[in-house]
Amino acid sequence: MITNRTFTMLKPDSLEKGNTGAILHKINASGFKIVAMKQTLMSMRDAETFYAIHSERPFFADLVQYMTRGPIIAAILEKDNAVEDFRALIGATNPAEAAEGTIRNLFADSISENAVHGSDSDENAQIEGTFHFSGREIF
Ligand code: GDP
Repeated sequence: MITNRTFTMLKPDSLEKGNTGAILHKINASGFKIVAMKQTLMSMRDAETFYAIHSERPFFADLVQYMTRGPIIAAILEKDNAVEDFRALIGATNPAEAAEGTIRNLFADSISENAVHGSDSDENAQIEGTFHFSGREIF
């Protein structure tokens, strides 16, 4: 199924390094329209819930610590084939394996601190967007 929306977070390292403008420009320049966006600080409970699928993984505690150490920018993006195209734009989870010119290739330092999140399915895009935004915040 091809849908037109995905969900992203610019992670704390992107904000700390002052990369938000450059990353948002790249997202827009790649054809994605921002239909919802906010800067927010995730609580530990938020991060544990958002990443619950990874709760048994050895890096889970580090992941929660990373995602709560400073603000993030959450956004819902619109474009034809949004989920797949955005995953291609951000590149592989490990920036060392991310294709040249992808956001993680350009702005991420490591597999743990990898600059951005992108939903991996239409179903998760819907769940993750609803986690961060009410209907009144989506345009
Ligand atoms: P994604 O969909 O590309 O973000 O990757 P995953 O869903 O597999 O992992 C979620 C997030 O957990 C990643 O974006 C990283 O921030 C973090 N992560 C994944 N693998 C590792 C790892 O091996 N070590 C650490 N410390 N963090 C990881």
